[in-house]
Amino acid sequence: MSSIETTSVQYVKGVGPKRCKDLVALGVQTVLDLLYHFPRKYLDRSDVTPIDEVVYGEMAVVRGKVTDARMRYGRRMPVFKVMIDDGTSIIKATFFNQPWVADKLTIGTDVLLAGKVEGPDHALELKSPEYALIEEDSEALELGRIVPYYPLTGKLNQKWLRKVMRNCLDKFADELEEFYTDAFLAENRLPAIGEAIRQIHFPETAEEKDRALRRFKFDEFFFMELALAVRRRRLRKKTGPVFKLWPKLDARIRELFPFTLTEFQDDVLKEIVADLRSPYPMNRLLQGDVGSGKTLVAAYAMLVAVGNEHQAAIMAPTEILAEQHFQTFSSILADAKVSIVHLAGGDTKKNREEKLAGIETGKVDIVIGTHAIIQSDVQFRKLGLVVVDEQHKFGVMQRKALTDKTTVPNVLVMTATPIPRTLALTVYGDLDVSTIRGMPPGRRPVETSWIPPAKNGDAWEFIRGQIEEGKQGYVVYPVISDSEKLGLQGAEESFEYLSEKVLPDVPMALLHGRMKKSEKETVMQAFRDGEYGLLVATQLIEVGVDVSNAAVMVVMHSERFGLAQLHQLRGRVGRGAQQSYCFLFSDTRSRDAGRRLSAMERTTDGFKIAEEDLKIRGPGEFFGTSQHGLPELAVADLVVDYPLLRAARDRAFKIIDEDADLSKPENTKLKTVMETQYRKRLELMDVG
Ligand code: ADP
Ligand code: MG
Repeated sequence: MSSIETTSVQYVKGVGPKRCKDLVALGVQTVLDLLYHFPRKYLDRSDVTPIDEVVYGEMAVVRGKVTDARMRYGRRMPVFKVMIDDGTSIIKATFFNQPWVADKLTIGTDVLLAGKVEGPDHALELKSPEYALIEEDSEALELGRIVPYYPLTGKLNQKWLRKVMRNCLDKFADELEEFYTDAFLAENRLPAIGEAIRQIHFPETAEEKDRALRRFKFDEFFFMELALAVRRRRLRKKTGPVFKLWPKLDARIRELFPFTLTEFQDDVLKEIVADLRSPYPMNRLLQGDVGSGKTLVAAYAMLVAVGNEHQAAIMAPTEILAEQHFQTFSSILADAKVSIVHLAGGDTKKNREEKLAGIETGKVDIVIGTHAIIQSDVQFRKLGLVVVDEQHKFGVMQRKALTDKTTVPNVLVMTATPIPRTLALTVYGDLDVSTIRGMPPGRRPVETSWIPPAKNGDAWEFIRGQIEEGKQGYVVYPVISDSEKLGLQGAEESFEYLSEKVLPDVPMALLHGRMKKSEKETVMQAFRDGEYGLLVATQLIEVGVDVSNAAVMVVMHSERFGLAQLHQLRGRVGRGAQQSYCFLFSDTRSRDAGRRLSAMERTTDGFKIAEEDLKIRGPGEFFGTSQHGLPELAVADLVVDYPLLRAARDRAFKIIDEDADLSKPENTKLKTVMETQYRKRLELMDVG
C-alpha cells in the first residue's frame, strides 16, 4: 500500500488541524482522498466576457477597472459594492460580509471578477463573485485559465482549496501508482494516472480536462465491472445440478402447454437450457416486456428440473400473484404427475407443516410462494431451480442469500420492468441476460389516452360501452381512502360514487390492501370468472395480474404514478386478441408528469419507456429507495457515459476470463486497487 493512502490530509501544506476537520466532513481524510476530491465544475477564466454581453443567470468572467467603491454597514452585515467598467459597459458587484475586500478593490484597480450574474428584478449584478487583482495576485491558478470549483462545506472556500490542492499535487501526485500497463493505457486511449490527476484539477485546456475526466470515469466503470466479473466467476466455480434434456421430455412438457411457444420464447429457452445442462449454476436474468409470456418460459425450465428428479420453486412479489401462478401451474399440470404446493401466508399452522414436510421429503415437486420463501424455514430435499418472478428490486444482495448455500441451485430472475441497458450492466452485471424479443401472436397495442378533466364524461361513457360489449376493466386509484391533504380521491369512496352515480348498471367490486386476505381472493376469483365488469382497486394489481378478458385500464390521478408503474398497470390489459384501452385521468400541470403521460401515449414499448424513465428520474430513483446495489459513482454517469461503460465492461470481463483471481503479475495491482480504493469509493457490493 502506498503511503498516500494512509497519510492524513493534515500533512498537506496549508491544512491545519481546524481545516483538516472541515475536510474530514467532506469525506476527505487521506492525501489520496484529497487527490480524488474532484472539481464539480470549471470556469474558463481565459474566456472573459465583455460586460455588455453578460447574460442574467449565467456564470461570467469580467475584467475591468473599479470606478466606484462603497462600504455600507447594514444591520446584519457589512455590504461592499463596487462598479466595474471595461469600456463596453459597467456592472455592479456586491460582496456580503467580506469587509476585507474593500482594502483590495479600491478605485482605479484593474480586476478580474468571476461569478453568477444575478440581482434583484433581473438586474445584471455579480453577487459575491470571486476576484483577483491583475497586478499583484496574478498567480497562474487564479487568472486567465480554467479554474476548478470544488464541492465545499461551510468553512472552506474555493481559493483556499485550490491552493491546498496545488500543494498536494506538487508534493504527492508522483506517488500515485499507475495500476494499468502501458499497453492497456494505449489500447484504451487513457492518460497515465499522474498526468490525469493533475489535469483533472488544473487543466490547461478543455481537451485536457475531458481526457482526464474520461480516465477517471473509465476507472470507476472498470473497477465496478471487475468486481461484478469476479462475482460471476466465483459463482461459476460452484457446482450446480446438471440436468439433461431429451426429446421425449421436451415433447411431454410442450404437450402440457395451452399454446405453442413463440419463436421468442424458444430463443430464450435455448439459452436457459444450455445453462441447466452445464455444471455451473445458472445465474440468469430473463427480461421480457409485460405480457411477453415469461410464465411459460419459467414453467418449461421448472419442468426440466422436475423431469431430472429435482424440485423447483417460483417466488412472486405478492400473494395475489403467487395465487395466480398456482392456478396457472395447476391447470397446466392437471394431467401430469407433478405435485405442486402453494405456501401461502395465510395457511394454518397444521396446513403449513404438512406442506413443509412434503417439501422436505421430496414428495412435492414444485413450490409456489412469495419472496418470503428464501427467508423462511423451508427445507428442500433437492432444490434444482429457483425462479424469482417480477422483481426488478431483487438485487445482488437478495440473490446472495440464494447462492450462499452449499449446493447452489440454478437461479432465474424474471423482470417485466425492462431494465435499461445501463442497469443491466451494473445492478444485474453479474447475471447473464436473456431477452424475450417479441409478443405472442395476435396482440394489438393498447390505445392510450391522457384524459384531462374536461373529457371525463366522454371517457366514462366510452368505458361503459366497452363493458357492455362484454369486456372487463380496472379502475386504479393511488390511495385507498380520500385524502384531503394530498387532494386525492381514494378507491373506497370512489367505488361508491362510481357504482351509484357514474356507472350504476355496471357490476363492480372493490379490491385493496386493507381487505382481508380471503376477501381479496374471493373478489379476484370472481373477477376472473367474469362476474364483475370493473374492478376498482389500488396498485395492488400493478404487477403480473393476468386476466385475458380485461381490456380497459383506467388510472385515476395518473400523475401520481411513475412511468414504470404506469407501464405495468397498462400491461394488465391487451392480453387477449381484442382491442384494449388505457385511460390516464389527470389534471396535472407539472412538466415531468406531462412528460410521463405523453410518453405513455406515444409508445407501448417497455424498453423505450424504461429508458425514458431513467432519463426523467435518474438511476437511484428508478430503483426506488430500497437496497438496489447501485454503486455511488463520483464522476461517471450511467446514462450519458454508456459507451464508456460498455468498453470498460468488455475489458474487465476479458481480464477475468483470462486470469480469474487476478494473480498474473500485470493484474495484481488491479486486484489491490479494486479491493482497497474502489471498494470504498463505489461502496461496491460484497465482492467476496
Ligand atoms: P408476463 O411476461 O407479463 O409474465 P405472462 O406469462 O403472464 O406474461 O403471459 C401473458 C399472456 O400471454 C398470458 O395470458 C399467457 O397465457 C399468454 N401467452 C403466453 N405464451 C403464449 C404463447 N406462446 N402464445 C399465446 N399466448 C401466450
Ligand atoms: Mg408474469
